[in-house]
Amino acid sequence: MKLLEGKIALITGASRGIGHGIAVKFAEQGANVAFTYLSSVEKGQELERELQAFGVKAKGYKSDAADFKAAEELVNAVIADFGTIDVLVNNAGITRDTLLMRMSEQQWDEVINANLKSVFNLTKAVQKPMLKQRKGSIINMSSVVGIKGNAGQSNYAASKAGIIGFTKSVALELGSRNIRSNAIAPGFIETEMTAALDAKVVEGWRDSIPLKRGGTPDDVANATIFLASDMSAYITGQVINVCGGMLT
Ligand code: NAP
Repeated sequence: MKLLEGKIALITGASRGIGHGIAVKFAEQGANVAFTYLSSVEKGQELERELQAFGVKAKGYKSDAADFKAAEELVNAVIADFGTIDVLVNNAGITRDTLLMRMSEQQWDEVINANLKSVFNLTKAVQKPMLKQRKGSIINMSSVVGIKGNAGQSNYAASKAGIIGFTKSVALELGSRNIRSNAIAPGFIETEMTAALDAKVVEGWRDSIPLKRGGTPDDVANATIFLASDMSAYITGQVINVCGGMLT
């Protein structure tokens, strides 16, 4: 029996990186997958075909998670296409790194809107169908940076810390309706987002991790499968660090 057989999942930001890894692993485990991207139309179409090859229903939507109205329209479209939503993975995120001294208001707003407001937008939109069916699992992609902070990422760290407070509050509000809300805090996961970093910095990161390697999208996807599946039926309001021991 596959772990997500027949479940309907909505994953934001799945055209690349961690979201892409989650979408593929979910389909492999039997989930029907609705996913979004911001601008990577071709990659979205490719992913749709890749997921359908697992024999599940899959559809990509071009939708800006930072836009409240667009999130509402997206959820309505997914429900029209798939029937309901059992699992929401709020994965979409961006960085605009710089020291506070140089950070513009725009760099602050863009990160808070794409990373934190998006989580509010999508969670609010899926709340209704999940309440109706009296079940659901919401999984929010935070970061170790949201727990410990990081120089040059005050906007990003604030957005990721905000996600943790939001996740725990939603767990308290919706637990009685069998809707679970958890966060994942990945450490250093090697994707396009981290490929922009200097090679020496990357070596330094790898060296400082107890497991002596950067994580892969699959490492994060495996934890996401667990939180999406009924294996985690008694787990809510938690943050799971997927960081190779970095925070230990
Ligand atoms: P990535 O490779 O840059 O991919 C980001 C994805 O999000 C893309 O699919 C992108 O779509 C989408 N996206 C960005 N803004 C969006 C918006 N407003 N609406 C909808 N989709 C949007 O990033 P990643 O490394 O996989 O990171 C995924 C998540 O994990 C992020 O929340 C990130 O903060 C978190 N995280 C990453 C790491 C790491 O080390 N990589 C560590 C901790 C946490 P397009 O392709 O269309 O642009």
